[in-house]
Amino acid sequence: MKQLFKIFLLALIIFMIAIYTLTAWGFWSHQRINRMAVFALPPEMFGFYKYHIDYLTTHAVDPDKRRYAVEGEAACHFIDLDRYGKNPFDSIPQYWNDAVAKYTEDTLMAHGIVPWHIEKMMFRLTNAFKQKDFEKILKYSGDIGHYIGDAHVPLHCTQNYNGQLTNQHGIHGFWESRVPELIGEEYDFITGRCRYIKNPLKEAWRIVKDSYNAHDSVLDFERELSSKFPADRKYSYIQKGNVMMKVHSEEYAKAYDKMLNSMAERRMRESIILVASFWYTAWINSGQPDLGELSGKDFSEATIEQMKKEEIDWNNGTLKVKGHDE
Ligand SMILES: [Zn+2]
Repeated sequence: MKQLFKIFLLALIIFMIAIYTLTAWGFWSHQRINRMAVFALPPEMFGFYKYHIDYLTTHAVDPDKRRYAVEGEAACHFIDLDRYGKNPFDSIPQYWNDAVAKYTEDTLMAHGIVPWHIEKMMFRLTNAFKQKDFEKILKYSGDIGHYIGDAHVPLHCTQNYNGQLTNQHGIHGFWESRVPELIGEEYDFITGRCRYIKNPLKEAWRIVKDSYNAHDSVLDFERELSSKFPADRKYSYIQKGNVMMKVHSEEYAKAYDKMLNSMAERRMRESIILVASFWYTAWINSGQPDLGELSGKDFSEATIEQMKKEEIDWNNGTLKVKGHDE
């Protein structure tokens, strides 16, 4: 009897771990966004970015990997707009200094700072282009792609980011990982050419406003679907290594995506064009340096070592900590 209880307990623990691991997915979309953004660039930039497309794809998720290893990083991925009242855009000043003066930096950091962080990354990327600093151009291009992708996710713009306030726990991973991973191969990612962005900060605010305006649908439609969908068909199990994982079923994911009129696809397409547009704008603002001069360059030994170390840390789980976008 005791033995049986032990087995049951072990199974329960494995099951709980599986549920937790599942919520930490979500890399597919970021990587696809950075990758496809390369194809929206003009010819003067395309060659350089295409040559490094695998770096930009792989490192699209670096900011998530370091979010709890680096102080202040976590706040860069989201903004809980509804913390600022019913009409947050009437309350929050767009400029960082004005917002700090009104709310204090601590408050802003606690509620997330993604639009301001996009502007900061834009500044860094523009400088990297000015200095023709090969490593920084790639690093900041990859990073800004990640933050722009995050800003397009409706659940990155609300305090109810995982449905925890409305008994929809797990909706974050469902919307941004499970749905695109199941259906994403059918998505149309050909977006056309990127554009110049006159005011990057204003554009970052426009992005989070669009996301925020969509967050009610993300939550409401799931609640509605859940109430009428046969409970025994809502979840399925998949094998991951030795572990069986409970996931939203394909049928449920497809029904949800249909209700949302392929919102995930639309937000990903928008992300792709915007990532390319921010890269392009930084390049223009830096004086359009000749990227051909950088061809044939490679990362320094020290940088390669550092990247290897980060990868090992990540694989060992030293960088994995639960967070906002669980
Ligand atoms: Zn993120």
